[in-house]
Amino acid sequence: MLLGDYHTHTTYSRSGHGKGSVLDNARVASEKGLKELALTDHGFRHGAYGITKKAFPKFLTDVNEARSLYPDLKIFVGVEANFVSPKGDLDIPEEIADKLDIIVAGYHKFVRPTKGGMGFVLRNLITKNSRTALVKNTDAYLNALERYDIAVLSHPNSGCRIDLKAVGEQASKKGSYIELNGKRVSMTADELVMMASLGCKFLANSDAHTPDRIGEVDIWTETYKQSGLSADLVHNYNRLPQLLLNKR
Ligand SMILES: [Zn+2]
Ligand SMILES: [Zn+2]
Repeated sequence: MLLGDYHTHTTYSRSGHGKGSVLDNARVASEKGLKELALTDHGFRHGAYGITKKAFPKFLTDVNEARSLYPDLKIFVGVEANFVSPKGDLDIPEEIADKLDIIVAGYHKFVRPTKGGMGFVLRNLITKNSRTALVKNTDAYLNALERYDIAVLSHPNSGCRIDLKAVGEQASKKGSYIELNGKRVSMTADELVMMASLGCKFLANSDAHTPDRIGEVDIWTETYKQSGLSADLVHNYNRLPQLLLNKR
């Protein structure tokens, strides 16, 4: 069984995007027998859903309350940061960087880019199948993996094209997990095999936006079976992973 879920959203993902409170997520995780839970709301430069700097202190207070109510559940303060430029900028404000236990990083549309990132954003909306998009997106992933302690790459290959081999090599080198995302199957069985051959390790995370979805990753069962890979490569299955923690 899954022992940890490292990608879940709460009402701090704005505009009604996340449905459960921090306490709801902790309660359900605890009821489902999870040992570890990360709260990873959308990053700060997401136009509609991002957590705000203003709300962040209250988020931390809520996490501390949840920790005292569910002492057997280890709760990580996290964010699902957005790639916002080919230089590998993630949308984590300087004053918040050292408050995060873990960083999950994923590509999402409708983010406010940092300087030099407008082309990155527009290209993925308008010419997402172009060679340039592939090269610049891959740059964004490789540079971010170099610059930040990214625990998990969420839904790789979903929403923007990347060179999965180049990204896999770098993720493997850094010790960042490749996510099997509970909402979408973003890689084929062959791609999983290729990534495993590079030394990549996987985490199955729900990406729950409602508390009842916490710990639910069944969507991957068929593809993972097809890959023929050992369940041992999914590091939160029947054990707890060694997460690359944020050292900022
Ligand atoms: Zn996402
Ligand atoms: Zn998410």
